[in-house]
Amino acid sequence: MEISGVRKMFEMASKLKDPVDLSLGAPDFDVPDVVKKAAISAILAGRNRYVPTVGIPELRTKVAEKLKKKNNILVDDSCLIITSAVSGGLSIVLTTILNNGDEVILFDPYFVGYKQLILQNGGIPVYAKTKEDFSPDILDFESKITKRTKAVIINSPNNPTGKIYSAADLKNIASIAEKNGLLVISDEIYEDFCFEKTHFSIGSVYENTVTLNGFSKSCGMPGWRVGYVCAPKRIIDECVKVQQYNFVCAPSPFQYAALKALDFDTSSITQEYKRKRNIIYEGLGKKYSFSKPEGAFYAFIKYPYDGKKFIQDCVEKNLLVVPASVFSQHDTHFRISFATSENVLKKAVAILNTLIS
Ligand code: PLP
Repeated sequence: MEISGVRKMFEMASKLKDPVDLSLGAPDFDVPDVVKKAAISAILAGRNRYVPTVGIPELRTKVAEKLKKKNNILVDDSCLIITSAVSGGLSIVLTTILNNGDEVILFDPYFVGYKQLILQNGGIPVYAKTKEDFSPDILDFESKITKRTKAVIINSPNNPTGKIYSAADLKNIASIAEKNGLLVISDEIYEDFCFEKTHFSIGSVYENTVTLNGFSKSCGMPGWRVGYVCAPKRIIDECVKVQQYNFVCAPSPFQYAALKALDFDTSSITQEYKRKRNIIYEGLGKKYSFSKPEGAFYAFIKYPYDGKKFIQDCVEKNLLVVPASVFSQHDTHFRISFATSENVLKKAVAILNTLIS
């Protein structure tokens, strides 16, 4: 396993004085007051003990209602486990499903955690291509399936590209997965941040799907570590055993707070991120080549010249961005996060534009 490249940038940032930092993938708003109050009330009421490994019943029921209403995924509570955010969910799912040498297909570029967690669990990451606009290359995906393929991981809206996969592409992936007996693992952590298209949950058309989601991005609470996994009961039953010995349960008081987080309306934040996306797209679009992000809060931009030199030039100008090598087998792009203030974004645009004549 390797240290996360995003973390490396984070450490580098701590050594620079007042860096213009576009490296971290965390939302820039704080937990809403009503959610904070729910956490405080839970702590004061003594809800600080272990809770069932699957999560508190109220939260499972409310998540099942949300999945039905918002994602068109019809499940009951027995198909759900509350996890230590999406990372905790991915970890228990991959431990549950993988045997040594099993292959898992990822669309490249991919979220940094997938590759490392597959490796940690004895699996082999296999990379399928994306097209110029970062939509999945379905033919390439199909060509990568072997007898050892266990699952395919998809992430839409996507980190690091901001791409939203179309319903047609997702249905194609589902039918190929069905034909080949594959599990689909769908990480939907950015579902609330869609600017152009609407989000489509592949779990609504393919039963053999593991859907992961959480509150780190949608409710600005990455430090509270709450998320959930929805999957066929036979998988959840095994995940429970893994979670039992690794995490025991997700943090108890924050599960109570998550009940309120599910009611939080993110539409004004999504509008704000769309505005910030436009600042980046309009500010850099003339000199840099990139596909307009449709969701999440990232842009994945082609290096204008040699990548190593480019990253170094950015650091010399006090600007932090993340090289594609962190998310991809090809070091051709860099990622910026626009979940930051307008002032920082404008400074970043100015610096980036000075790097090319
Ligand atoms: N999945 C994706 C695509 C992410 O971008 C992140 C965090 O950046 C995670 C999962 C991990 O999120 P969590 O805080 O819920 O563990």
